[in-house]
Amino acid sequence: MITRHFGIPVTSPGAILRRERDLGTPLGQETAEVLQSGGLVPDKIIIELIEDWLRLHGGHGFVFDGFPRTLPQAESLMSMLTKLRTALDLAIWLEVSEETVRDRITGRLQCAECGFTTSSSSAQFANRPVCPYCDGRLERRNDDDLAVLQTRLQEFRTKTEPLGAFYEKLSMLHRIDGNRDRDVVFADISKLMEDKTAK
Ligand SMILES: [Zn+2]
Repeated sequence: MITRHFGIPVTSPGAILRRERDLGTPLGQETAEVLQSGGLVPDKIIIELIEDWLRLHGGHGFVFDGFPRTLPQAESLMSMLTKLRTALDLAIWLEVSEETVRDRITGRLQCAECGFTTSSSSAQFANRPVCPYCDGRLERRNDDDLAVLQTRLQEFRTKTEPLGAFYEKLSMLHRIDGNRDRDVVFADISKLMEDKTAK
């Protein structure tokens, strides 16, 4: 949505690593297991990915989604940007309650055949849980996902939460309530970005 609206490239380490996994590269295979269990991929790998991406695509603005997730990642980003003679404009913290995360996960439907995922609240699939791509059966995957969620929350509390204070100290942090509808959240993010680009 951000790319479409602002013409700024967005990347997330998760998306890069999923693509690597689908391509069957050594990096993709190495990290797939960690991602699947809800753990965080080692900082060194993530930092290299971002550094490469910035060099290729970061010339005219960029948005990172899900990066940095740890203090060492945030510190590396600062030194990368110093080298590139650029700086961050905004750090946006999407606050989402555990309850919301849990609801979103348990409300997720996945195709048993091709892996396509959608939400069970999506009206299109509520009555007829069939995959639009391959006609496979759409099913819920609860237990697995909830165990993964526990690991992810633990990682979040110990490694990601301290980033709030880090960016607060730099007067860059904006907290947005992410428990609301996608469109409302996007409108808030857009407003922050518009205020920045208008300057
Ligand atoms: Zn399918």
